[in-house]
Amino acid sequence: MCFIAYGILPPLRTFDRRHDRVGGVKGSVYLARFCSLYSGSSGNCVAIGCGGRYILIDAGRSAKKIRERLAQEAIDPADIAGIFITHEHSDHIAGLRVLASSLKVPVYATEGTAEYLTQYGHAQNVDLRLMPPGTVDMGDMGVTGFATSHDAAQSCGFRVECADGRRISLATDTGVITQDIHSALEGSDLVYLESNHDVTMLYAGSYPYPLKKRIASDRGHLSNEACSAELPVLARAGTTRFVLGHLSAENNMPVLARQSAVQELGKNGIREGTDYLLAVAGINGLPSMVL
Ligand SMILES: [Zn+2]
Ligand SMILES: [Zn+2]
Repeated sequence: MCFIAYGILPPLRTFDRRHDRVGGVKGSVYLARFCSLYSGSSGNCVAIGCGGRYILIDAGRSAKKIRERLAQEAIDPADIAGIFITHEHSDHIAGLRVLASSLKVPVYATEGTAEYLTQYGHAQNVDLRLMPPGTVDMGDMGVTGFATSHDAAQSCGFRVECADGRRISLATDTGVITQDIHSALEGSDLVYLESNHDVTMLYAGSYPYPLKKRIASDRGHLSNEACSAELPVLARAGTTRFVLGHLSAENNMPVLARQSAVQELGKNGIREGTDYLLAVAGINGLPSMVL
């Protein structure tokens, strides 16, 4: 199948799309903004913004470290409207209790994740709310959860629909891309997808064999290969921006993740810079992207 029908990337939105919103919401610019603050096994946190407000997905570094990255990206913590949690592993919740209680914003999690957070003291002084089956209305953003396949209580990814119609989706910590995940990602303008390990590096590496099996299992993490296989399908459905994240420090290298993705897209006639943009998030994330 040829990709020519999608042609050249649509132009980036520019600041002349400013709207004078009734009610004059602070910074009411209808640009969606995506920022990976931290990524990988040492901690994960993403900020997504629209209309001057932000949500965070995960809080896997200390509150201090997350505030440092927010400052670097000129994101005012007062503009954060809520925190969404994918699952309870420490690289996703390490800074949650301190950050959420100091920001005084609601934290959304699935029932299984919420039970864990409560049981192990991560929800003290936190306004913890259950993800509803539908969409959480965050003003200029609507946030919908979808199940992922991971060895956690009840892990999920998120799709964020911005007021201008732009869609940003995130799926990390999943051993496979299920039909539900695929459906949630499809049609997104930007997809942040896990590209956790290079299979050869994983099996040649120093991890104990049971851990290698766990990572490679259907409830583990996505390999570069599995991540790459999904990208052409998403590109054909209109995704123009890919961010690869949650890379293993032990079992992957950014250059391998990138190479795998670009090659697979290229094999399908889909060209970087013409049909899509791609970035690989390092431990300290990436600078903000506007779309
Ligand atoms: Zn995990
Ligand atoms: Zn993780």
